[in-house]
Amino acid sequence: MRQKDTIQLLEKIADKYKKEYHLSTRIDISKLGNYCYYNRKGDYIALALRYVQFRIGDNLRDYIFALLHELKHAIDYTKSKESFEEEARWIDWAKYQESLEYHNSVPFEKRANDFAEKEVNLWL
Ligand SMILES: [Zn+2]
Repeated sequence: MRQKDTIQLLEKIADKYKKEYHLSTRIDISKLGNYCYYNRKGDYIALALRYVQFRIGDNLRDYIFALLHELKHAIDYTKSKESFEEEARWIDWAKYQESLEYHNSVPFEKRANDFAEKEVNLWL
């Protein structure tokens, strides 16, 4: 699948979840860049295909998974900013950046991975 088509599909998928969960999250998908994250202060998702390709994998499932993971952060934050911030307060952010194991053990990261794991099959 061409990158242009991948981006279009990801935007379509994002729209569906934005409607379903009443998100006002801005979705910024690009080809190049070294990032894939949800910024809760600005309420936007920034996802670079090249980052996903190198860090996660290079098939359609990997791109959709990455998007769904970030969407789940947006869903959680939209649902309750207070509880998200409460969770965030307990995180060792230095360790979060350094250790993938620690990163994936954080409750909202677990929820995001579980959500993506479940939802990705709807799109394949
Ligand atoms: Zn995450």
